[in-house]
Amino acid sequence: MAETALQEIYETLGKEGLRKARWQEKMRIWGMLAQIAGMALFALVMVPTGWAAALRDALGGGTTFGALLVVLVLMALQSLFALPLAWYFDYRVERLLGTGRQTLAGWLLDYLKQGLINVVIFGLFFWAVYLVFRAWPTAWLPALVGVVALLVLALYLAQPLMVRAQFKAEPLADEELSARLARLFEKAGFAFGGVGVLRAGEKTSKGNAMLVPRGSRLEVLVFDTLLEEIGPEGLEVVVAHELGHRAHKDWPAMLALFGLLFVVGIALAHAVLAGLTGRWGLSGPGDPATLPVLMLVLNLWMLVAQAAMNAFLRSREYAADRYALELTGNLEAFEHTFVTLARQNLADPEPPQWVESWLHDHPSIARRLEAARRVARSS
Ligand SMILES: [Zn+2]
Repeated sequence: MAETALQEIYETLGKEGLRKARWQEKMRIWGMLAQIAGMALFALVMVPTGWAAALRDALGGGTTFGALLVVLVLMALQSLFALPLAWYFDYRVERLLGTGRQTLAGWLLDYLKQGLINVVIFGLFFWAVYLVFRAWPTAWLPALVGVVALLVLALYLAQPLMVRAQFKAEPLADEELSARLARLFEKAGFAFGGVGVLRAGEKTSKGNAMLVPRGSRLEVLVFDTLLEEIGPEGLEVVVAHELGHRAHKDWPAMLALFGLLFVVGIALAHAVLAGLTGRWGLSGPGDPATLPVLMLVLNLWMLVAQAAMNAFLRSREYAADRYALELTGNLEAFEHTFVTLARQNLADPEPPQWVESWLHDHPSIARRLEAARRVARSS
């Protein structure tokens, strides 16, 4: 019998599970670097060759509507260009880990669906950015802030749609469990919007749960894979943690920080695009043919800036954990939940420090368990 939850996690994972967890971690890093490399290659293929400028001329990119067409076509091309990398790091890696259950055709369909939503949301965003750069060649900053604020809002509102586009949801059949969560919501002072069970098991063996706005209420969405294994007390802890994020208003703070970093990234890109004026047929920051460069600069910046964003997010995770422990008073269920999640998601309980600091928006499981013990002792 394991003495601590951390030991129990190592025992449940076993040698093979731990090897897979560490490999998954490595692949996440390589996947991110490969994605950036792919963007750089796309920019190299499209921009210095003059193809982006030729595409702009062919689609009438000088006009307002033409600029939208250029942006949408370039984004669609970029998605197709990135397909082999996504296939490997998304589909193939999950298959090798044994967590992916989708057929290649099913995965491709999802990739196209997600890609379409992305092209629409970010396409409209980049289009608006170009229109702002055209309308205010020097004083573009205030309008840019407004456009980024709209993007952040759209991403937040689209989140439940994205989840539902990926997984079918059914209402929770277990009325007792539903009543239990309703009581938890009441205790925390939130309006309960019901529980939806996402049929994730046909696509993945991994587990997850989230709260999404449903009118003025909050709906619990939980993967069937997690629900099967976690038990009512575990689900209570998970939901209490998510309620903690709401109680602490982490969402608005996170979106504001993300928006701020995005504005800085676009401002950096503006400087680069201004420097490219007259080259390769490009006519300056308002030229939609510069999109591959803009996306590359923005993504490079976000890769670096992630460290700051993630440090903030990790601090919010500790606070939400504390809230969950105080609301439920159930350290045992809290610890057991991490054993289940680590096994289901093949999480390395103690990733290298630099990886956690730079890339993880959640603290490592080992640290969260340690912090939970401290909270339980002090209360
Ligand atoms: Zn959280």
